Amino acid sequence: MSVQEQIRTLLEEKLDRQVYDTWCQSLELNNKGENLWHIPAPNPFYRDWLEKELRRPLEDAFKQIFGQIPTLVFKVEEGNTPPQAIPTESVTTSPSKTSTDKKLPAPPKPPPPSSPRVPGGEEGKQTKLNGKYTFDSYVVGPSNRFAHAATLAVSENLGNLYNPLFIHGGVGLGKTHLLQSLCHAVLEENPYTKIIYLSCENFVNDYIAAVRGGGLDEFRRRYRNADLLVVDDVHFLVGKEASQEEFFHTFNTLHISQRQIVLSSDQPAHDIPTLKDHLLSRFSSGLEARIDAPTFETRLSILTDRAKAQGKELSGEVLTYIASTIQNNVRELEGAVTKVIGLSALSKRPLTLDLAQEALRESATPRISIVTLGRIQETVAHYYGIKVSDFRSRTWRKSTSLPRQICMYLCRKYTSHSLAEIGEAFAGKDHSTIIYSVKKVEKLMLKDLAVRTDVERLSREIQG
Ligand code: ADP
Ligand code: MG
Repeated sequence: MSVQEQIRTLLEEKLDRQVYDTWCQSLELNNKGENLWHIPAPNPFYRDWLEKELRRPLEDAFKQIFGQIPTLVFKVEEGNTPPQAIPTESVTTSPSKTSTDKKLPAPPKPPPPSSPRVPGGEEGKQTKLNGKYTFDSYVVGPSNRFAHAATLAVSENLGNLYNPLFIHGGVGLGKTHLLQSLCHAVLEENPYTKIIYLSCENFVNDYIAAVRGGGLDEFRRRYRNADLLVVDDVHFLVGKEASQEEFFHTFNTLHISQRQIVLSSDQPAHDIPTLKDHLLSRFSSGLEARIDAPTFETRLSILTDRAKAQGKELSGEVLTYIASTIQNNVRELEGAVTKVIGLSALSKRPLTLDLAQEALRESATPRISIVTLGRIQETVAHYYGIKVSDFRSRTWRKSTSLPRQICMYLCRKYTSHSLAEIGEAFAGKDHSTIIYSVKKVEKLMLKDLAVRTDVERLSREIQG
């Protein structure tokens, strides 16, 4: 008896007559190498049903015969896909018209998916998707354009384009948001896609629990049968050898059968310490996309969106202040909006620059101690190719007025010196000159790209 026949016989014993007649009579099993079987289906609709109804019984049958569970891939056969990818009523009523000459029975109409927002169903240590993390709410700018485009492309073409897709970038820059957007988009298109989305920490914990509780078979069955495996923060694998090994095998099994893998990390793969070479080479075998800190403009858009979400509009002045105070972390940027709006609501005061400065004093001050007025003047002078004495001497040249104003702005922003003290450092100018300069630079930053770029570069340099 062939494997196919053996399996069918077992299924016949186990399943309801009607279920068997419906699903199994024309079932094909194609061996694609060690431990990998393809089960062809005439269309995606049918495949989803086979997957749902037959995976378990088939796995049990394999286990009974071979003592282990292979990887089963339910696949729409080449050339068998009906013209419209999504099956319609006509598939239900006359399957033979759309699904070639295979004598497969029409599958019943699918029930509505129970919970389209819990990827992969009820099993495992899945991380729940946050409904807010969608492509729609993701602000795209130069810092994340590539990662965004790659993720979007993968969501439309699972397994065939970039596999794995490896997204890396610092904390709070939108990796998790992108990963979840991908899951949402895929589920939107096909709610039956088997997605496993979880943090790497959960993967590791799940693995340890499986090893301890003797559920390793079940663990492997679950992970190795996903259509899409999304693991957030894979740098968590550092120093966890056994988990790395297990992940390596999970990765290979999925990869070999063109199932999509998407990973994120706070570092590029080759910088993750103690990552085993064979895992590193897998991680680097697809596409790596990096997310950088958002530019000033992207920060402004994010701030505007966040304020809007809280039913508020912030003035250009306040937006500029927040966007220039917090530069390297979108999560903190969001937190800042909440703080400012919160303080305004609590103290019943309007959303002014003063209020924003008060609300964010802590975020704006940590660098104060190391940054001196002198250092800022040196940095700015060097940047513009002028002399520090141009700031300190009593005779001011018109040609250096913009650098001088920017320098005052930066002194105000990165030190805790009083206006009078700052004035002292600029040839004893009084506080109104400093206030005027600070306002002027804030205004210029809103409309003049060159000024903004200069200020951003200088800010980075000053913060070291
Ligand atoms: P990471 O996983 O890289 O640490 P997250 O994806 O958790 O960062 O992002 C932190 C917060 O910032 C989230 O609330 C997220 O929605 C938000 N965020 C990050 N980048 C963007 C963006 N480009 N557009 C809108 N929101 C963003
Ligand atoms: Mg994250």
